[in-house]
Amino acid sequence: MPNAEDLSACFACSTCTAACPIANVWDIKPHQLIRMILLGMREKVLSSKEIWLCLTCFECQERCPQLVRVTDIFFDCKNLAAEEGSVPSSIIALGKELIEKGQLYTVTADWEREDLDLEPEVPGLSTDPVKKILSETRTGRLVKEGK
Ligand code: SF4
Ligand code: SF4
Repeated sequence: MPNAEDLSACFACSTCTAACPIANVWDIKPHQLIRMILLGMREKVLSSKEIWLCLTCFECQERCPQLVRVTDIFFDCKNLAAEEGSVPSSIIALGKELIEKGQLYTVTADWEREDLDLEPEVPGLSTDPVKKILSETRTGRLVKEGK
């Protein structure tokens, strides 16, 4: 884990969990995930849904009194899980949207643009640069393979 240098400094204060805007819907809270990583519970951490629920808002990391890189560590976990082919289908679906449409969430309410006297379609939106970048990255490979 590239970001785990200060991980062992964690003293389980739970500040990361207190700062997290969505920890209340996590079965395993951020400070518990950090503890599990420290205990070497690799399989449980990498198969947990919580690492994919993280919003990457960095609230936890900004507030950690021990300078543990909590958000970055969760990034590392996602990368490791992806390397092992363990990516939720919802994340793969988002990747497909990105490759096919150049955006993560399709704007379906065209009438909103028309209401503002805008063209119904966003002009000049090309997905070619996104496709090219993703075709040369592991993200593109994962989406293609649907893992
Ligand atoms: S805020 Fe930092 S020290 Fe406290 S539990 Fe979270 S990671 Fe550990
Ligand atoms: S980065 Fe993730 S774990 Fe940290 S506070 Fe935000 S949502 Fe919670």
